[in-house]
Amino acid sequence: MARALDQETREALAARLRFYRDLGLTEFYRRPVDFSTIEAGAEAEIAVASAEIAITSVQDQSVSAPLNPTQNFVAEEQAISARKSLVAPPQIGSVVAPEERAAALLQIVEDIGDCKRCELHKGRNTIVFGQGSPTARLLFVGEGPGADEDAQGLPFVGRAGQLLNNMISAMGLSREEVYICNVVKCRPPGNRTPEPDEANTCSQFLFRQIDVVRPQVIVALGATAATYLLGQRQPLAGLRGRVHAWRGSSLIVTYHPAYLLRDPRQKKEAWADLQIAMKELGLKAPKRI
Ligand code: SF4
Repeated sequence: MARALDQETREALAARLRFYRDLGLTEFYRRPVDFSTIEAGAEAEIAVASAEIAITSVQDQSVSAPLNPTQNFVAEEQAISARKSLVAPPQIGSVVAPEERAAALLQIVEDIGDCKRCELHKGRNTIVFGQGSPTARLLFVGEGPGADEDAQGLPFVGRAGQLLNNMISAMGLSREEVYICNVVKCRPPGNRTPEPDEANTCSQFLFRQIDVVRPQVIVALGATAATYLLGQRQPLAGLRGRVHAWRGSSLIVTYHPAYLLRDPRQKKEAWADLQIAMKELGLKAPKRI
């Protein structure tokens, strides 16, 4: 007999199942899930789903530390890792016309719609989808929109955005040549770090964006982007300074520009990271940031 679940656990599981459904996965249990009963709070159905998700999730052991140890129904770190294997990796180098990629990105925008899949919708003015070339070889991933981004609907347009522009320019590229997006598309209140359930829910769109652009190199700006791309929470120092293989792309982790504004001494370290990215791209450094 299925055990009863409290309301918080039930809502969290329902959100998790909606996330899988949005990815097009509805039959990773022994039998298909009736989402209408899940939404209605059918405890027995959810309990079965919970057990099966837990079994599925433990197959990936690449996470080193839990993201939210207070939740015991499905460990967040396992959920993040499981997500990495849910979508087929992009085919780097395959020829897809720019207009087809632009159309595919527009489709994601349409799918997001007036999104209310997580709590962050409550405080946003604008959904900040992303910006840049759909065929970019270099893609930056930040954490989430700030006040300026929320007001303008574009990523990295405030002071941190200006510094990112300088970083891109120092690499010998223009902002129009790269693609810029965030883990979450709506501004967290007070610019707080996105909660794991918010980042997990929204990052389905990030993964789809990356799969459309198919960049050669991804630069994760800050700990949140690194955590949700790599599926592991580690201090930034342990992730920086090297190339991570990520679904066919090379992924480099560096500091978030907002952090560099607070501690400019770290710019030298960030530049070293960007030089790794440039080497992967076959670029020569024209100047320093
Ligand atoms: S942050 Fe993402 S998942 Fe949450 S409401 Fe905004 S678009 Fe939807």
